[in-house]
Amino acid sequence: MPIKGTDVAKKLPQKKGCKDCGFPTCFAFAMKLSSGGATVDKCPYLSAEIRAELEDALAPPIRLVTVGSGESALKIGNEEVIYRHEKTFVHSPGIAVLISDKEDEEGIEAKIAKMKELQFERVGLTLRADLFALKFESGEKARYLALVKKVCDAGDVGIILISEDLGALFAVRDICAGQNPLLYPITKDNLEQAIPLIKQSPTPVGVKAESIEGLIPLTSRLKEEGIEELVLDPGSRNFLEVLRDQTLIRRAALKQSFRPLGYPTIVFPSAVGSRRISRESRVKSQESRGVGLQTPDSGLRTPDSGLSTIDYHGLKEILTASMCVIKFAGIIVLPDLDKHALLPLLVQRLNIYTDPRMPLAIGQGIYEVGQPSEEAPVLVTSNWSLTYFLVSSATEESKVHSFVCVKDTEGLGVVTSWGAGKFSGDSVGAFIKKSGIEQRVNHRKLVIPGKVARIRGELEEALPGWEIVVGPREAGELPGFLPAFARSLT
Ligand code: SF4
Repeated sequence: MPIKGTDVAKKLPQKKGCKDCGFPTCFAFAMKLSSGGATVDKCPYLSAEIRAELEDALAPPIRLVTVGSGESALKIGNEEVIYRHEKTFVHSPGIAVLISDKEDEEGIEAKIAKMKELQFERVGLTLRADLFALKFESGEKARYLALVKKVCDAGDVGIILISEDLGALFAVRDICAGQNPLLYPITKDNLEQAIPLIKQSPTPVGVKAESIEGLIPLTSRLKEEGIEELVLDPGSRNFLEVLRDQTLIRRAALKQSFRPLGYPTIVFPSAVGSRRISRESRVKSQESRGVGLQTPDSGLRTPDSGLSTIDYHGLKEILTASMCVIKFAGIIVLPDLDKHALLPLLVQRLNIYTDPRMPLAIGQGIYEVGQPSEEAPVLVTSNWSLTYFLVSSATEESKVHSFVCVKDTEGLGVVTSWGAGKFSGDSVGAFIKKSGIEQRVNHRKLVIPGKVARIRGELEEALPGWEIVVGPREAGELPGFLPAFARSLT
């Protein structure tokens, strides 16, 4: 549990009238510290011991870790709650795609291309995978080096370097040190050898053990050495172990303030439950349960889905990844990117990591759809992102260049904001007057959403000289409405 402001105050020097921290009293500074609004170093009168004690007590229960740099930097951790409805989840898990240096050139190029291509626009955001995970498996260091160089040159995304060979790991780290890669795995066997190498050029590292208990001495030792940019892999071997371990780590960090586990995690869904059942056993098992269709070439097919066995394993990986989005992973490493699997995963991530207290909203203002002229239609709507994107995409579909005036309704939809008094005739009128739209069009016709037709009279009073036109009730009807309306303006 975070330390209380009153407990922080007891540790401060209580110098009367000092104010060197920028706050009128020690107590005011303590309150700000406990809410995360200030840092301990602002008070110059703390002993090193008290300062360290306070820094430790005030540190977030799950450390914030950054992988990558610049615009592609991925921040994970810093979570404060177990259940999203308690407050919000903060940093969504990074999605990585694995490339082994044993793969052929064609396969590597295809994965790099997919990373660039598979980007999806949704409610004004670009959804995409975040990281390449580059694995040393060939045993040929030159080959691994070439892979890392190729990916570093090609991508604007973060990098995870994976190698059991510490020499190879730190050799390639130097190639992309500026990109702040995550190095994985640091284990009990290579820990002492790795510590001086990590300290030479600090970078985040993935710590792997065979169990949660096995992680504790490793993270404690790294912390002793001042290495705290850590990501945890408890070595979960199947779906249930992943669920259990991710939950235990999150609970230990948040409920028990157990610092050795206060770090984000990494999961490899393809390594979870990867025990392949032979085709014969699978057929036998399914036949005994009276399910499944055996086909000569493609193996077993599930009765309803028609998925091949390969698809079935892919589906298991995606289900594991999906569970990890909900159950607390910091990074999820997929064996490949498939658009049919990636899109739902990204949308799920967006939904889970959207602050439930804040509706997705866009800024108040005038938005252009196409290249509107002075004779273009003017529509007004609320600033709930979903509303805006429905209206703008339907307007685009109509092929009528238009202005969409978006009023700040604190992220509420049109009808809800009208009910809350945020989309009344008076307030919409005041917004339109201030918006500057009168200088951009040579007509005075404003289209309002059909569902709030009742504000028309009030709006006409608030906007003298304007004709208020009641538009369709649904955004989807705009393509049928706008062309004829636009002709009436010319
Ligand atoms: S600088 Fe330190 S001693 Fe001075 S008011 Fe702030 S907290 Fe108190």
